[in-house]
Amino acid sequence: MKTYFKKIITIAICLITILSLMASNTVISEAKSKSSKKSSKNIVVVLDPGHDTTHMGCHYENFEEGIANLYIAYYCKQELEKYSGVTVYMTRYGFDCPYGANPDTTSDCLTSRVEYAKSVKADVLISLHNDYDPDLDKSQNGAKVIIPNPNYRPDLCIKGHDLGQSILTQLTTTGLAVNDWKLCPNGTGLVTRDSEGGRYPDGSAKDYYALINKSKVSGFATIIVEHAFCTNDSDRINHLSTPEQYQQLGIADATGIANYYGLKLK
Ligand SMILES: [Zn+2]
Repeated sequence: MKTYFKKIITIAICLITILSLMASNTVISEAKSKSSKKSSKNIVVVLDPGHDTTHMGCHYENFEEGIANLYIAYYCKQELEKYSGVTVYMTRYGFDCPYGANPDTTSDCLTSRVEYAKSVKADVLISLHNDYDPDLDKSQNGAKVIIPNPNYRPDLCIKGHDLGQSILTQLTTTGLAVNDWKLCPNGTGLVTRDSEGGRYPDGSAKDYYALINKSKVSGFATIIVEHAFCTNDSDRINHLSTPEQYQQLGIADATGIANYYGLKLK
């Protein structure tokens, strides 16, 4: 009789163990499918080659910003498309302005770029630029990234910060310094800038740059990457003079974006 009970108990324990293993396996596989759904979400990146032939950027010696930014954007797109799980668009593919070629409509042009990014459901808008010092102070050099301020949508500030940091890390591997502008806290190269008068719907100070404040209200982050200074001889000669140098910058941007999103090469 004792043996009979022992057998029953052993079978019951086995059954309970099997059932609990099945249950935990279901939980594990559910968790796996949830996390794989998260990682398989397609990311939409919109690259914005800053300026165009109508809304000119900076010009110094043989350097034309609107053209340089377009080169960098194409190389960045080409590199980023080597990764899976990402779709890349550009706000312009040619030299001319696709949003109304009138030099007096810079603001409309910027609004249209944000609206375009919104229309393709952008996760992020990354505006690619190069810098110059208005006083022609040749000591100003290196890369910085302008990110959303913490107001109204603090999550977009954190996203911009982390993505900007990831891109800056890659840009320094090309030999560029991190720019030490007065608005970059502790030489981080990551800058926020508030508008003096503009306010978000909650009354907090707007971001200074239209691309950043307009996209924040639309619900996504914009960052502005200022790669190098055309007024600094070393930056211009070593980073802003040849297609190969623009390619290096575009690859650095793409690698920084891919690392931030955890993208894998195809
Ligand atoms: Zn610019």
